[in-house]
Amino acid sequence: MNAADEAVSAILRGDVVRTRKPHPCGGDEWTVLRTGADIRIRCNTCGRLVMLDRESFLKRRKSLVSRSSSSGESVPRS
Ligand SMILES: [Zn+2]
Repeated sequence: MNAADEAVSAILRGDVVRTRKPHPCGGDEWTVLRTGADIRIRCNTCGRLVMLDRESFLKRRKSLVSRSSSSGESVPRS
């Protein structure tokens, strides 16, 4: 497998992603706060928290905007 494909299919805490459909507030960028069986994301525009299962998250995700280079220590928890 190509390393870039693998990086894109991974879901990591601290990722900023863009969704296919914007949030009702108009924002389409989200920060991943928690990964696991369920993915918790926060709207970067209005701060709303949303929990999705992994499959739903991957369907909604359109692109990866940025990824934190550290393994999570610098990502603020809320
Ligand atoms: Zn929003």
